[in-house]
Amino acid sequence: MTEIYILRLGHRPERDKRVTTHVALTARAFGAKGIYVSTLDEELERSVRSVVKRFGGDFTITTGIKWREFLRNFEGTRVHLTMYGTHIDDALPKVRTAMTEKMLIVVGAEKVPPEVYQAATFNIGVGNQPHSEVAALAVFLDRLKEGAGLRTDFHGRMTVVPCERGKKVVNDTE
Ligand code: SAM
Repeated sequence: MTEIYILRLGHRPERDKRVTTHVALTARAFGAKGIYVSTLDEELERSVRSVVKRFGGDFTITTGIKWREFLRNFEGTRVHLTMYGTHIDDALPKVRTAMTEKMLIVVGAEKVPPEVYQAATFNIGVGNQPHSEVAALAVFLDRLKEGAGLRTDFHGRMTVVPCERGKKVVNDTE
């Protein structure tokens, strides 16, 4: 099965903490293996790791990476999510035939440099209207994995038991 990683560009700790946390948690919940963030942010690392510790899985977070080098040297399919890209409906069949052992999905925060468009194997629009990196990532992962990502078993210390009303959580540490 293809291991999927996210590369988050342009993260500004004081402005983007919440959105980048949501990018990371969405990636994890929809079945990705880890996230790389261009800017160093230890608080962001702590908050994502705390979710992993409680809710399980082996999702990783690394911040403060040299993203140009990382993107250039990444061995596998590079998908850049951008409103300017090929519509997801047209791109997905091509992505499926080009699947490699690893995939990197790039999402921006502010304006993404032109070299990212050049380095990407696919520039893909989740529709061609501006919206959000969180929405784009969720829809892309869900379509790519055909729903299987949301069925990942995380074997966490804390497990939510789905119920029609109220909240039921099994906590193994108690
Ligand atoms: N204005 C920026 C630009 O065009 O470079 C984008 C800012 S947007 C708030 C942040 C990120 O959301 C983008 O870099 C892209 O990854 C993602 N995004 C927003 N709309 C998208 C869409 N329709 N399809 C795919 N990705 C999208």
